[in-house]
Amino acid sequence: MTTTMKTELFCLHCNRECLHTITYLGTYLKEVRCQECGTHIEMDRKKILETYTAEVIDRILTKPHRLTEEVRKDLSNFIKSFPIRIITKPLRVAKELMEVIKEDKD
Ligand SMILES: [Zn+2]
Repeated sequence: MTTTMKTELFCLHCNRECLHTITYLGTYLKEVRCQECGTHIEMDRKKILETYTAEVIDRILTKPHRLTEEVRKDLSNFIKSFPIRIITKPLRVAKELMEVIKEDKD
């Protein structure tokens, strides 16, 4: 079962707080997507486990009953500290999106 939530989070690409859509697959966080630029972080638990401790993963990736201020802050810090090597795909997507926008202007 997929559920989505919307909240303001820090975007690495926009370099400011933007509206993000958070997608949960079952009880686990699957994707965080910026509504402004389309940059998204897909959660690969294996890659995350290489970088973060189980405690951090449990706190951040397990679906909260509601998105509390504390969870929101954790997510923002999590995104800011996210290793850039994990988000190569979103940068490509953002580039493609920029090209589409550019084409529209011509
Ligand atoms: Zn953005």
